[in-house]
Amino acid sequence: MNGRKARALNRRRQERNEQLLAEALKDEPQLLEAFDTFELWQRGRFTFYLPVILDDLPDELKQALAAHRTATLEGACPLCTVDVSVSRKGLVVTRHEDACPGHPDRLVEIGERLGVEITRKA
Ligand SMILES: [Zn+2]
Repeated sequence: MNGRKARALNRRRQERNEQLLAEALKDEPQLLEAFDTFELWQRGRFTFYLPVILDDLPDELKQALAAHRTATLEGACPLCTVDVSVSRKGLVVTRHEDACPGHPDRLVEIGERLGVEITRKA
C-alpha cells in the first residue's frame, strides 16, 4: 500500500471512529458489571472502565474521581475541557487538561499526597 492509500484509509477509519463515538454518546450508559474497586460500563459500542468512589476516601479524592468518571463516561469534564477521541485500536481516549484533578496523573498524585494507593488502569 502506498502512502496516499494508507493516509486515505487512516482518514476513513478516523472518520468512522468519530461517527461511532458521536452515536455512542447518544445512547444511555449501561452498567455492565460492578466489582469492588471498578465498574464496567457500556455506551454504544464502547466499553468504559471506571474506578468506584469508595465511601471512606478523602473528599478531595472523591471529587477528583467523580470528575474522572464523568469525563470518561460523558465525554465532558466538570473541571476542565477534555479532548475526546478514538484511537486507531478503537478505544475512547479522554484527555484532561494537565492541571485537572480528574487527569490520571493528578489522581495518582492526590492519592500519594493523601496516603491512598491509586492503581492506574488507563
Ligand atoms: Zn478534567
